Amino acid sequence: MKYFGSSGIRGVVNKTITPDLALNVGKALGKEYSDVVIGRDTRPSGDMVKSAIIAGLTSLGADVKDAGMLSTPALAYATRDFDCGVMVTASHNPAPYNGIKLWNPDGSSFDTAQMEKTERDIDEDHTLPEWDKIGNVESLKNATRDHIDAILSKFDRDHDLKVVVDCANGGAYSSTPYLLEKMGCEVITLNAQPDGTFPAHDPEPVEENLVDLSKTVKKTNADLGIAHDGDGDRMVAFDSDGNYLGGDTLLSLFASRFDKVVVPVNSSMVIEELSKDVIRTRVGDVFVAEKLKESGADFGGEPSGTWIYPGLSYAPDGIYAAALLVNLTTEIDLKKTIKELPSYTRRKKAYKVTNKQKTMDELISLYQKEYDQERIDLIDGIRLNYENGWALTRASGTEPKIRITVEATNDVVIAEIFEEVENKLKKVIR
Ligand code: MG
Repeated sequence: MKYFGSSGIRGVVNKTITPDLALNVGKALGKEYSDVVIGRDTRPSGDMVKSAIIAGLTSLGADVKDAGMLSTPALAYATRDFDCGVMVTASHNPAPYNGIKLWNPDGSSFDTAQMEKTERDIDEDHTLPEWDKIGNVESLKNATRDHIDAILSKFDRDHDLKVVVDCANGGAYSSTPYLLEKMGCEVITLNAQPDGTFPAHDPEPVEENLVDLSKTVKKTNADLGIAHDGDGDRMVAFDSDGNYLGGDTLLSLFASRFDKVVVPVNSSMVIEELSKDVIRTRVGDVFVAEKLKESGADFGGEPSGTWIYPGLSYAPDGIYAAALLVNLTTEIDLKKTIKELPSYTRRKKAYKVTNKQKTMDELISLYQKEYDQERIDLIDGIRLNYENGWALTRASGTEPKIRITVEATNDVVIAEIFEEVENKLKKVIR
């Protein structure tokens, strides 16, 4: 059966993410790996899911180190000393969700082949070994500190900035505030107590969830605001005027600092103007990391606010990104630099559908009938290229939705393109 989406296994707890599924994931991994590290974000269901995975792992003989509650990048970094890492998190999804994401020793998440093998093993009946072959469980104390120290080793300690950090009550609560303080910053925290019911706001770092952060940056005359999602692999920011610096803006900013970058098909055509060598890939940090390994590029990012720096690990790391942005803010005039970055108009809309795959298959046939093949790119979904823009129609990896994203040089062009691709989608939805 298919269990993995573009960001690991994800779903509502006790509906999709049941103790039985978690147990079977544990067994599947216990069959393959003997030395496993596991951790969880701040969700109330974290211990239930984690315990079931541990039971599965140890029943098949794997030894487990439990890193407790931490950020995903810290867990991924800790995996360097193990055969496999398991993170129990639903990232930016709301509180009823949880999920399981799997990591390799180099910090990369499981690739397509590994996910497919794990899926087959989840469905298998495993022979359980004798009682004296059952694995041990011990706790791992220093994963967060080791991750912070690894990031600190890349930066000086003299960053004289005032920074407001919104941890979203998620896994970054024990990382970013301490890291930035050690870099020399004065840090003001929001929502830095671990609470996976997410009492302050949903853990997706979009502008409407971060109104308090924007206000606090202005009120305290801070230089920068930083926000994470529920597990700290994403980061977005606010400038000193309280303006939102979303994934697209930060992706342009970071891409302009590296020569060879990997970005997904849904990111801006601006990137080609800013970096010498741009490699496009499927949407999802798994695919960005795969391409980074393959190409040896310096940086990979996604407009969702996912940042990967192979110099540290192949895991998306919002905490490292926060340190990098703080460092950049002391080196350049952030507001001026961002103002000077080229930017185009964007429009996005999501459409609920009952069968994503069928809708997309029909849409692809329709496009292939109606457009020149050179204009169509099928790396992920359908990207239709225009002279002054592009449109991507793509099924969501985690929800029953199809999304249209359009970028163009001006408002008139974007309206025309949007209408054209929306009509195509509506034809096949009906
Ligand atoms: Mg995340």
